[in-house]
Amino acid sequence: MKLVRFGPPGAERPGVWLEDAPGKEQAGILDVRAMAFDIEDYDAHFFSRWGLERLRGLLAEKNRKIVPTEGVRLGPPVARPGKIICLGKNYRDHIAEFDSKTPDRPILFAKAATSLAGPNDPIRIPADAEVDVEVELAAVIGKTARNISEDESMSCVAGYTILDDVTDRAAQRADGQWFRAKSRDTFCPLGPFLVTADEVPDPYALRLTSKIRGQVVQDARASDMIFRIAHLIAYASAAMTLEPGDVLSTGTPGGIGSARQPPVLLRPGDEVEVGIEGLGVQRNRVEPA
Ligand code: MG
Repeated sequence: MKLVRFGPPGAERPGVWLEDAPGKEQAGILDVRAMAFDIEDYDAHFFSRWGLERLRGLLAEKNRKIVPTEGVRLGPPVARPGKIICLGKNYRDHIAEFDSKTPDRPILFAKAATSLAGPNDPIRIPADAEVDVEVELAAVIGKTARNISEDESMSCVAGYTILDDVTDRAAQRADGQWFRAKSRDTFCPLGPFLVTADEVPDPYALRLTSKIRGQVVQDARASDMIFRIAHLIAYASAAMTLEPGDVLSTGTPGGIGSARQPPVLLRPGDEVEVGIEGLGVQRNRVEPA
């Protein structure tokens, strides 16, 4: 299943993306709340109380409420996660272009939940910023995990999505840590879909790409990551409780614009395209903040 949230910012409704809506031979969105008023949103309550099985039940119903996708805005596919956990330096080619120091354990950091944006929303950059896009494979947690073993940890993954870890390098350099640089409003486009884990048998086979002004800047396989998802969940859950709806992003591959000669940085008016095979594509216009 491809879970989406659709509607205006702050008023999104939960949906399921259907490539071929019945009788329409075009994409449609199952309007989940129109069929099940008690499913308010894809939040911690949904994942822990109703879960994905309930959606499968709705999909099997005869009278499904399906809305057209045309002109519909998509929001982030999960509602306001409690945590957005990110990972620094998890791909060797990105380490080489960053500071060449390979970490001996995962470097976790956070993005503010207020940085979240829909997959095709504008990215708004301040005039003094030096901004990169970072395509990343993100896992969405489906059940509470505390001190979970590596063997069991994949059972906590509800599905996968694309996270663009937009970063202001000027703020990152100035601060010596990353929270402000990573957390500006609109600096976390998420989606378009939360693709359920059963439809992603091998996340490491996925190809990640990002383009700025039509130029490919990142093109890599998730198999190049150093610390894998099972290890990351176990490692993070030893330090903090992971809750349903939390997002865990796995780091970005090499190719970032600021490390290029000459640098390829975002400017107002740019079009950005960030994609992962099977998980969809994000297209964002860059605007001044
Ligand atoms: Mg990143």
